[in-house]
Amino acid sequence: MSGVLQEKVAVITGGTSGIGLAIAHRFVREGARVFVTGRDAHRLEEAVAELGPAATGVRADVSVLADLDALYERVRDEAGRVDVLVANAGIVADASLGAHTEENVDLTLAVNVKGTLFTVQKALPLLAEGASVLVIGSSNSVRPNEDLEIYSASKAALSNLVHNWSRRSRERRFRVNVLSPGPTRTPALVRATGGEADQFAEAFVPLGRLAEADEIAEAALFLASDASSFVTGAELFADGGYTRA
Ligand code: NAP
Repeated sequence: MSGVLQEKVAVITGGTSGIGLAIAHRFVREGARVFVTGRDAHRLEEAVAELGPAATGVRADVSVLADLDALYERVRDEAGRVDVLVANAGIVADASLGAHTEENVDLTLAVNVKGTLFTVQKALPLLAEGASVLVIGSSNSVRPNEDLEIYSASKAALSNLVHNWSRRSRERRFRVNVLSPGPTRTPALVRATGGEADQFAEAFVPLGRLAEADEIAEAALFLASDASSFVTGAELFADGGYTRA
């Protein structure tokens, strides 16, 4: 059976948990060869085992530029190109004004902004003609959360960067879009909210619930595949209406 990503090479940073792992599973089901990354070697091994032979795991921290160089060297040697890049790795290490520390600000910006920027920049020489680049943003880019203000600002920065990058879509022969999930049931969300996320979603998300990571993966598949061939520079909110409430 052939899928919409048959023969495509996809790189998914942070592909060992939550949204990134769900995207990796969805892409594999559509015939893609996927490279997934993460920092934790054990989690990486588990993800590759569950994804099967179409997956390769590469230990890489997106905030360490030498790790990104090693990642793309491996992709070049083993697959020769990138058709779909999902810059998904991101963290929440945050506070609100009055409680910030230099450490939480540096870490959030290093992973979410610097890491995403160099994930995309260092992929440029490998991007195939017509490649699709997806940056995973957040509904917090336009509806900031006051307890997550550096996180929210980091995601707004990504939307802004993608706005610029998309202007060069023709010369670079790529499409680049932001996929911004609303609150989504993942290990990160459970860690950040201590299990209160369901009540939050019921109160504040127009659809009245959290997203499942698989639902975000469906939106990612749309942006990755030719179904979105005329879409570049967009920010797709898969957020149950959260940014409209
Ligand atoms: P998650 O379950 O914690 O997964 C995060 C993934 O990123 C893991 O594979 C993690 O593996 C990896 N990662 C973290 N830091 C990394 C780094 N420095 N370098 C490389 N990999 C790293 O989180 P998630 O909820 O799926 O979030 C994924 C993305 O969706 C993030 O960008 C997040 O901001 C965004 N998002 C999530 C929600 C939500 O409600 N869940 C909503 C909007 C947007 P290691 O820890 O092993 O590195």
